[in-house]
Amino acid sequence: MGTISELLSLLKWFMIKRTNTKPPLDRLRIVPRAMRMTSYHCPRRFRIIAHTAIASALLVTSYARAESLRFAVIGDYGDPGPNEEDVATLVRSWNPDLLITTGDNNYTGNIDANVGQYYHEFISPYVGSFGHGSETNRMFPSLGNHDWDEVLDCNGSSCSGPYLEYFTLPGNGRYYDFVAGPVHFFALDSDDREPDGNTSSSVQGRWLQNRLASSTARWKILYCHHPPYSSALHGSSLWMQWPFHAWGATAVLAGHDHTYERIIRDAIPYFVNGLGGRMIYSFRTPVDGSEVRYNDDYGAMVVQADETMMTFQFISRDGAIIDSYVINATPVETTSWGSIKAMYR
Ligand SMILES: [Zn+2]
Repeated sequence: MGTISELLSLLKWFMIKRTNTKPPLDRLRIVPRAMRMTSYHCPRRFRIIAHTAIASALLVTSYARAESLRFAVIGDYGDPGPNEEDVATLVRSWNPDLLITTGDNNYTGNIDANVGQYYHEFISPYVGSFGHGSETNRMFPSLGNHDWDEVLDCNGSSCSGPYLEYFTLPGNGRYYDFVAGPVHFFALDSDDREPDGNTSSSVQGRWLQNRLASSTARWKILYCHHPPYSSALHGSSLWMQWPFHAWGATAVLAGHDHTYERIIRDAIPYFVNGLGGRMIYSFRTPVDGSEVRYNDDYGAMVVQADETMMTFQFISRDGAIIDSYVINATPVETTSWGSIKAMYR
């Protein structure tokens, strides 16, 4: 019998011959028999797919699907009522792979009523009473001041409280990172009650710098509650103006101000996204770099990422696209025969 590697080598040869493009072999999958348009008996002992155009299309589709990610972003939302319900309905309509939050998940009262009532299908393990949770955890919140207010107690760096008991999160649960598809996410705790500090030189700051430096992901998304830059009621949180761009961040998302804003600083976008349902704030004088400001209605962000581009959108609860912002990967190896992944770094 021929080996899988022989089969892949032969298929690779067909691909190069027909398309002059080397396929991403590490992601090759054998197309199911039912999908084969034309097949031939190999001179040796195994059957291969030889209709290269069909195979190529299927392989490209397979690759794109494997490396793409859609995620939603909500902020300042944990207050039950029709506003939160409308935003949750909007978020569910996108069928996102996962959901991140810019904090204030849990205003006063019961965290399950504030969060799980609307977003239980993203949580695993789900320990509340509003239905089934997710097979795997798909909700990755960040801590807001109201989450701390609802009694997080710390003994040194060991903390407990409703938020930390309700969500099962990586690391210490207060600040952590994880990778999904082409995106490396970093949730930060911007609150000054964080025992590991909330400045760039703190334990948390050094952790972020080191994790960013060792990340090989195409995109690095940072999110926290207090916005480094904001033109609204609370304004810019100066202590969170860390050298994110110099450390390798792609974009920074925050909440706390109940508005939507896109600000460009140091060549990267800083988003304020706090219209998840609690209430709406007014704007003041725009800060430098402020490009889009919106506070007419509640809504959320949906972000689509693959190896070549990342698209950020803010959508109001009636479905109107308020803002779209695209970041393209920078091609650095345009003459390479390497895979698509190798061409964009
Ligand atoms: Zn807040």
